[in-house]
Amino acid sequence: MQGFTTKAIHVPFLKQDPHGSLHMPVYESVSFEFETAEEIEAAFLGRRPRHVYTRSTNPTVEHLEQKIKHVTGAFAVAAVSSGMAAIANTILGIAQQGDNLVTTKSLFGNTYSLLERTLGPWGLEARYADFTRPETIEAQIDGNTRALFFETITNPQLEVADIPALGAIARRHKILLIADTTLTPLYFFNSRDYGVDLEVLSGTKYLSGGATTVGGLILDNGTYDWTQNPKLENDARQFGPFALVTKLKREVYRNLGACLSPHNAYLQSLGLETLALRADRSCSNTKALAEFLSQHPRVKEVNYPGLESSPYHEIATRLFGVRCGALLTFELASKAECFAFLNKLKLLRRATNLNDNKTLALHPASTIFCEYPADLRQAMGVPETLIRLSVGIEDVDDLIADLTQALED
Ligand SMILES: *Cc1c(COP(=O)(O)O)cnc(C)c1O
Repeated sequence: MQGFTTKAIHVPFLKQDPHGSLHMPVYESVSFEFETAEEIEAAFLGRRPRHVYTRSTNPTVEHLEQKIKHVTGAFAVAAVSSGMAAIANTILGIAQQGDNLVTTKSLFGNTYSLLERTLGPWGLEARYADFTRPETIEAQIDGNTRALFFETITNPQLEVADIPALGAIARRHKILLIADTTLTPLYFFNSRDYGVDLEVLSGTKYLSGGATTVGGLILDNGTYDWTQNPKLENDARQFGPFALVTKLKREVYRNLGACLSPHNAYLQSLGLETLALRADRSCSNTKALAEFLSQHPRVKEVNYPGLESSPYHEIATRLFGVRCGALLTFELASKAECFAFLNKLKLLRRATNLNDNKTLALHPASTIFCEYPADLRQAMGVPETLIRLSVGIEDVDDLIADLTQALED
């Protein structure tokens, strides 16, 4: 069996390139022409799949999907315009009015907003449980529940749920287990091995490599029997295991226009080739910074699943091995100390994003959580003494030197 990186850089093209190009070219073309009326009819009927119009399919985007399939072994992959598009399209593909999803409040803020503000008024209910205590989940499930939805490492709480236990609950109730795996790259966490049916992720983060492009992916692991889902049971009869991906391509994704641009697909394809190298480096940097900060007298607490002091250390190591992601948080004495620290940074950048090649520092309470009142922020695990670092691939000594000077009085 070839390794991840070997596979990622040697994915065969579906059609031979006329010039022998070693990279799939960027097909920046909206439309594709046909020799005859019969051929274009066959393409529209889906009898002879061909690229017709880039909002539906495009050769460069399809090549990215092939690459992801090749490295993960997923049954079907859809590349979309952003992580949020991956989440929205997936939910709209599997649920209808009157249905509910069981999830947790430790969610990416825009996902929470999608559920509460966008989909709630259209008749989809979000129910909340504590996914780090799987016993709280079952009470929320009823006959209209279609899925459990969670993030593999939550941000910025850095909680890690017992994913096999979630999978067992989902199977018992014949519902889907959907994971947002944005914080645990495909390289070291293959969700299919742990009972996840559908994976959604923001390619903007680890995949793009250096935060160059916005993109998203939907992976269908091929583990769910679609006849069990009321919205897809007709499609399941017609298309079998391809029910969801057909529904997306021929309806939801096409109609919502959530297409990934060919240029972004190209850059994300390149990013995939170096994903493992970057992830190894950023994860080991994060571990080193977490250890450095834990020893620092001005730092009150460091939260990183890769540290033995984390309550999620055991489960995180079981699921992700030695790489526990590139995000850590720590606490200083006050908001004023946090701001002073941020303003003294010279190498680390003050910016919001994850898994850039550059290390980014952020004060979550005054930025991504600024819409929420202080007591709710506290309940969401975001006190105003918290700093978040998204660790990049710089030389670790340079990062430690900058942290050292910024933490001086
Ligand atoms: C960034 C992020 C998203 C959204 O991705 P975009 O590509 O910005 O739309 C979703 N989930 C998680 C966990 C994220 O970090």
